Amino acid sequence: MSRPTYLDHNASTPVRPAVIEAMAQALAQTGNPSSVHRFGRLARRRIEEAREAVAALAGANPAGVVFTSGGTEANALALRGCGRERVLVSAVEHDSVLKAVAGAETIAVDAAGRVLPEVLAAMLEDDTRPAVVSVMLANNETGVVQPVTDIAAVARHHGALVHCDAVQAAGRIAVDIGALGVDMLTLSAHKLGGPQGVGALVLADAEAPLTPNLPGGGQERSRRAGTENVPGIVGFGEAARAAAQDLADQERLRRMRDRLEGKALAMAPRARAIGAEAPRLPNTSCLALPGAASGMQVMRLDLAGVAVSAGAACSSGKVAASHVLRAMGLPGGLAECAIRISFGWNSEDEDVERFLRAWAEIAQRAAGRGASSATTAA
Ligand code: PLP
Repeated sequence: MSRPTYLDHNASTPVRPAVIEAMAQALAQTGNPSSVHRFGRLARRRIEEAREAVAALAGANPAGVVFTSGGTEANALALRGCGRERVLVSAVEHDSVLKAVAGAETIAVDAAGRVLPEVLAAMLEDDTRPAVVSVMLANNETGVVQPVTDIAAVARHHGALVHCDAVQAAGRIAVDIGALGVDMLTLSAHKLGGPQGVGALVLADAEAPLTPNLPGGGQERSRRAGTENVPGIVGFGEAARAAAQDLADQERLRRMRDRLEGKALAMAPRARAIGAEAPRLPNTSCLALPGAASGMQVMRLDLAGVAVSAGAACSSGKVAASHVLRAMGLPGGLAECAIRISFGWNSEDEDVERFLRAWAEIAQRAAGRGASSATTAA
């Protein structure tokens, strides 16, 4: 059998060979980075080198980088730790933002899945309690990019702090914490070709107050207690360096994504590329095919050796209608028929062809069902 086709980079990107090598070396080293002897000092140096690489990816000061166990923890640290009374989150955020704080208020999105700055402005004018606003840079399901700079300007005008989940954007489009104008930014290593279980909250002001979610030791400038995950952080640093260099490769991924969508839509004229009318990540396609349930599509593609996701598959295995697509107000039943195809550093042209070969059969069956239900209805 030919090699399987992995088109689920937004769920987790394969670990880059250079990362595996760097992590293996780090694993072979002894030492707690808090120890003062040479072993500890070496471990500390490795962490600080990684911190610089991660900071560079986000255009930040290394002192503002707080390493965490991943994007989920970084999001919770931002929203719980900043101490603001009101928490406003966009309707299309990842669950780790939506559920970080009980009682968070939801900012509605338009049909393209974008937050309109005027909608946020009205919410902030209505209630002047100290607030934090959380809007992601790019959506994990559709790839739609939010107008974060404009949103941040509105929030700051009203005295609110701004957090941005840039987990899916980093390494795919330029991410610069200063240019975005946000106070806090979340990153996760495993979307960059690094290991799972390590991420960072990046602070624009390295001295900004932040209450730790995990109190205890003084690690990470007392913002996140616990012995650091040295091999994971080293892998994150290596992935951040590679991802920064790889930004130029995104044009290649965009061409593959566009070819896939173009051919799929020509094959199945009732299909839709969700979010295509808005600025999008170059690597992501959310393709809805009326009459073909997402879970069934994912299973059939898997049988054909092609891995994609139905909605947000990060947390589950379950296939529920996506809250992102529902928030975008997709017309009747379309949200249940959407799959996500996402490319990454090891994707090849052949992956597009393999996907299309397998998907063509699904599209033919759906077209057959569409025709027979139309006959029945008539
Ligand atoms: N934020 C977004 C947009 C994501 O897509 C994900 C994971 O898919 C996360 C946060 C969570 O990151 P992690 O898996 O590192 O906890």
